[in-house]
Amino acid sequence: MSASQASELAIHGGKPVIDWEFAPRVTMGEEEAEAAARVVRSGVLSGFQGSVGPDFLGGPEVRRFEEEWASYFGVQHAITVNSWTSGLIAMIGAIQIEPGDEVIVTPWSMCASATCVLHWGAIPVFADIDPITFCLDPEAVEKAITPRTRAILAVDIFGQSADISALRALADRYGLWLLSDSAQAPGARVGARFAGTLADVGGFSLNRHKHIQTGEGGVLVTDHPEVAQRVRMIRNHAEAVVAPMGISDIRNMVGFNFRLGEIEAAIGSCQLRRLHEAVQRRREIAALFDNGLSGLAGLTLPAVALGNTHVYYIYAMRVDPAVLGVSRDWVADALRAEGVQCVASSYANLHRLPMFERKIAFGSGGAPWNTGTRSVDPEYGLGLCPVAEDLEENLYLGLEICDFELPDNEVRGILTAFDKVWAYVDGR
Ligand SMILES: *Cc1c(COP(=O)(O)O)cnc(C)c1O
Repeated sequence: MSASQASELAIHGGKPVIDWEFAPRVTMGEEEAEAAARVVRSGVLSGFQGSVGPDFLGGPEVRRFEEEWASYFGVQHAITVNSWTSGLIAMIGAIQIEPGDEVIVTPWSMCASATCVLHWGAIPVFADIDPITFCLDPEAVEKAITPRTRAILAVDIFGQSADISALRALADRYGLWLLSDSAQAPGARVGARFAGTLADVGGFSLNRHKHIQTGEGGVLVTDHPEVAQRVRMIRNHAEAVVAPMGISDIRNMVGFNFRLGEIEAAIGSCQLRRLHEAVQRRREIAALFDNGLSGLAGLTLPAVALGNTHVYYIYAMRVDPAVLGVSRDWVADALRAEGVQCVASSYANLHRLPMFERKIAFGSGGAPWNTGTRSVDPEYGLGLCPVAEDLEENLYLGLEICDFELPDNEVRGILTAFDKVWAYVDGR
């Protein structure tokens, strides 16, 4: 093969740099198999009962896992749920939200970070994000605050904490709850503290895509005893137990079944012991990318705010089409053609979902936007969050490094593919 053939881009018919399939990341081991078997042999796959008594809080595996999680993360209360979507719904209910109240959310996240608000008849109000960290921009948040605002729900997107000190200052100044969705950032730190634990209420996902998993599952964390109590109620059929428990404030005591099973909890205990290692390897991979990609023109690498530890759920970059002379989508396709299987060129613009643009959620009549005494209808749709829109349409390029094992040789292959694509772009 001649040099020109070797360097011909795969997207133009040349030979791809990577001609093998990346191995998916495997987080399960013998310990998890043993733990699951132990629960199966016990015959008790869930210890929960939806009535007053010790079983209201779940079985032994659930309770042990919650204690371990609380101790690892340094919080008073860790409460397991059957998904983090469930956890988000419980979190919004537990802050005593009222129909028509507003919660400031980010457009750049998984959809549950915004829809959790709707489930209580409350209104998500989108604020734009910071173009460098992709997390909520505190200035945009402040502009979105109205007399109906009750909470800010920050998302530690891609594995780095949102600007929690600026958001805390806003929350304190305006008397708002500060909530955190740290689904993608277990083990990330702000100074010495773990991301997710600096908000009033935070939490994590244990779905199969995350750093550690139980298949489905989530954990909510808080130091507020009343919030913790209300989350435990909402998790387990609140309405049935308020009277026997002597609870008179029954606002939002409309329960669900958000209970985690014993098998998942037993596996979760094993997974928690693997968290540090999972995070360390993602950080190593990110350091290799930082090193190998830093010279490429028109490519902005992830920026880590001072004092933060990033856990790289996604290695998230921006391309500059004006510098490159090609579009982001072309770059992504060229990299995919070279065999880079973890390329992402789209993430989210939640304010543009049909649910928000058309304001149709519960039924066809506009609920919950038409609930209560709303004076101003929030706007959704194109133009509301220009930074997030530009990222989604033109700039965002990610490497989904949590999904794959990515041994060093694959990381080198990815770097070679970038070099090859950039050599072509630079040489035109
Ligand atoms: C995964 C994820 C969720 C939802 O978690 P589930 O456990 O799948 O319900 C919410 N928010 C973000 C940012 C996520 O990445």
